Formats: sequence, C-alpha cells, structure tokens
Amino acid sequence: MTKQKALLIIKPDAVQRGLIGVILSRFERVGLTVIGLKFTWAAPEKIKAHYPETEAWFTKVGERTLTNYAKKGLDAKTVFQTDDPVAIGKTVKQWLIDYLQESAVLLAVVSGYDVIEIVRKLSGNTIPLLAAPGTVRGDFSHDTIDLANAQNRPLRNLIHASDTVEDGEKEVKLWFADEELFDYQRCDETIMFPAR
Ligand code: GDP
Repeated sequence: MTKQKALLIIKPDAVQRGLIGVILSRFERVGLTVIGLKFTWAAPEKIKAHYPETEAWFTKVGERTLTNYAKKGLDAKTVFQTDDPVAIGKTVKQWLIDYLQESAVLLAVVSGYDVIEIVRKLSGNTIPLLAAPGTVRGDFSHDTIDLANAQNRPLRNLIHASDTVEDGEKEVKLWFADEELFDYQRCDETIMFPAR
C-alpha cells in the first residue's frame, strides 16, 4: 500500500467568503497529511495548463450542461449559440481562467491512502445543487448549471480536487516545486492504521 497525492485549490469564492480554514480542516480531520500549502495569484497560463485541453474533457463538461438542460427543457443555444458539447466545454474553460483570477487561491497538496477517492468524496458533486450535505460543495453552496451558464460563469463550487491519480501527479508538479513539499508522518496514523 502506498500513499498518493492530490491537489486541492481553494477557489476565489471560498477565499473571499472566508472559508479557507473550515474547508482545509475537513481534509485534515479525516486523516490526510497536508504536505504542501501556498497562497498565490494563479497565472492564466497555469490555469490553462491545469484544466485539460483535450476533446474528452471539453466533451465531459459540455455534456454536463446538455444533460442538465435536457432535464429542464432548456436550449443550450440560447447561452452558447451551439449545442456542440466540445464548444460548450471550451467556453467553460475560458470562464474558468477568469474565475480563478478573481482573488488569490490557496493551493494544497494532501497525501494519503486512496487520497483521490477521499478528496472527491469530501468535495462533493461538481454541481453544488446536487452535492450531498456533509460535502464542501453541498454545505457551502447551492449553485446550479442554469444559473451559472445564464450568468456566463463557471459553477462557483469552492474547491478543485484532483480527479485521478495521474491528474494528481500532473497537477502537483504544475503548481509545486519538489522543495515546496514536506512529507512527514502524522502521529495519529499509528492509532488509525496499527500494524499487526
Ligand atoms: P470538477 O473536477 O468537479 O471541478 O469538474 P470538471 O473538471 O468537470 O469541471 C471544472 C470546473 O468547471 C467545475 O468545477 C466547475 O466550476 C466548472 N463547470 C463544469 N461544468 C460546467 C458547466 O456545465 N457549466 C458551468 N457554468 N460550469 C461548469
């Protein structure tokens, strides 16, 4: 069993609402180790590199809008002038570049066993309206796709959390230099995971 790393970004809506501490503490209290932490203004090129530039990612994001619009009988063309998921995904990426520059962001690297599953579980569904109570997005927001799209902005969902082990590795390398990571053993690990 080896530990893995995940990147968290406490996004500008959370920073400006004074939620840095309460959000970060949720990841600490579950037992993850915070091994990197810094407050920074995200450069547009970094944000661009952070979110994939692939057709698969654009499609995933665009389909999220189309699925939601189909349920509500809304037409994507009214906001995006197209119903092509890739084109919608590209527009959302452009919005994300502005959103993440609205204030400084807090970047954190957390390490642990099955860390990706844990950070995604604690963050909750991408759409705050659908995020379960007890999750960051479910407890601190109720933003919706229709509202966000109509206002030409991304869902304001407070946090980014790496989605796969590979993304975690890539994102940690993008935002942190090796010497900015400080691995150590939490003293409660001997109680949480005793060897027999
Ligand atoms: P995440 O990994 O849960 O953050 O989700 P994604 O990587 O799929 O999307 C990145 C970010 O884009 C999300 O956190 C939202 O802020 C935003 N976003 C995703 N899908 C949509 C959408 O359909 N409409 C809008 N307005 N924003 C979206």
